[in-house]
Parts: sequence; C-alpha cells; structure tokens
Amino acid sequence: MPELPEVEITARRLGATLAGAEVESTLAPGMVAVKTLDPPLAALEGRAISGARRIGKMPVIEFRAGDGEPLDLLVHLMSAGRLQAFDKRASLKDRRSRVLLRLADGRELRLREFGTKQRAWVKLLRDGGVEADDMVATLGPEAWPAPPLDALAAAIDQPRHLHPLLRDQRAISGIGRSWVDEVLWEARLSPFKKGSELGADEVERLYDGLAVLGQAIEHYEEAIGDQVPDKLPMPLQVHRREGEACPRCGATIEAVYYAEHQMNYCPVEQTGGRVLKDRRLSRLLK
Ligand SMILES: [Zn+2]
Repeated sequence: MPELPEVEITARRLGATLAGAEVESTLAPGMVAVKTLDPPLAALEGRAISGARRIGKMPVIEFRAGDGEPLDLLVHLMSAGRLQAFDKRASLKDRRSRVLLRLADGRELRLREFGTKQRAWVKLLRDGGVEADDMVATLGPEAWPAPPLDALAAAIDQPRHLHPLLRDQRAISGIGRSWVDEVLWEARLSPFKKGSELGADEVERLYDGLAVLGQAIEHYEEAIGDQVPDKLPMPLQVHRREGEACPRCGATIEAVYYAEHQMNYCPVEQTGGRVLKDRRLSRLLK
C-alpha cells in the first residue's frame, strides 16, 4: 500500500536513476491501465525522462527536456501497484505488468500490480495537465511537509471521524491505511474523534504527528538503495502491531478490524482507556 513516504522515495529514486534515459518503446499489457488517448503512450518513444516527482500518493514521471512538448506521466498505484526500474526487460508473460517503458539503455520502467484486480492506471498529460486533472485538482493540502496550523485546522474541520477523514485525499493528501494509525498514535488522538471537535492543542498535536511521514522518508533514504524493493521496510510502530506493547507507555496495542483493513491504537493514550469493540464500532461507523 504505497502512501506518501513510499511514493516519495519511489519518485526520488526513479528521478535519480532514470534522468536522461531515453524511451525506446512503450507497451501497455494492462490495456485498461492507460486512461488517456491523446497524446498516445507512443508519444514517449524517443523522449528522455527528465525527472520524477510526487503528488499526494501519486508518482509523476517527467518528460520535460529536449525539443518535444513537455509531457508528464501521472501514475496511480491504487492499493497494489508498484512503479520500479529494472535492469532487464520483463517477460511478456508477466501478468502483473500494466505499463512498460523500454529504455534505450536496456532498462525498463515498469508499472506492475500485485493481485488479480486491475486498478492501477497512468495518464499521459501535456503541460499543465497534471494540475488540471480531476484526481490532482481535488486533492487537499499535502500531509508532508505538514500544512501551516491554520490550513491544517481548516482542512480537517469536518464532522467525520479522524481515521477516515485523514485518509480522504480531498481533505489532506498522502495518508492511507498504514500511516493514519501512526499519525494518530503520535498525536495521541482517538481515531473516533471528529475533525471538527478538535481543540487548538489537538490540532497542534496532529500537526506534530504528521512529522512521522518525514521521519519515514528519512528512514527510507538510509535503508533503500537505487532500486526500490517490492516490499519496503516500513518503520511502523502501531499499525498491525495488535497484542504488542505500545512503544511509549507499554499498554497493549488494540485493533479494530474492517472488511479490507484494520485500525490499531493505544487504548491508554488515545481512547481514554477504552477498548473499542468491533461490533459496536462497525455499527457506529455506518
Ligand atoms: Zn501507549
């Protein structure tokens, strides 16, 4: 589940290793993965990658050097996509391949997707197209670096529980199911507190809690070489750590399970000692 820190390190590494590399040919084995028709993906052939950047949880591969018009490849990894550079080309039998950019130096930039669903996508956009794209134009402020306090307060001033609110990219962008637990734990806030109910001191704690995203990026800078691995060494302290001791107070980390994800929290520091029961919560959340 690549979120802001994982996509940031992906963009940094891809930008560094691929800058200057020329695209020889393009392939889209996952036919539905390319969401734009004009310009066609083949417009990248003969163009050099000039860099990469990140917007929210989305990497952008840039083609902004040379004679051609500036183009950006906006990538949405969804929950199971990976965007990586490989030294050799993929076997055409690899069913995880969605979009392949074959480079003149023999390498390949590959969008793959694990699992059976085809949800990851790319859009090839002209200059200004990324900013105008629906997915980008509707994003809330970036979660890292944290927005100024008043902007953060405004972004989350909604009568919704913090856990889904912070994962809503239109409210604040970059946070998903893993890092939301870490941010809330760091801020010592209940996942069921509503955004609009936070006092000024709580907004400040949330602001400070967002720093875990930057710390994760620093961790990846140390731990990851040129090639971003399939599975990143995520420095998580509470997410998926149910039953373990809270690293701060020693209480047992609790969990609430949902159909497709789980939430973890420290009952002593975040919910006033209350252990939230799954059944009660699933009703409460409807
Ligand atoms: Zn604790």
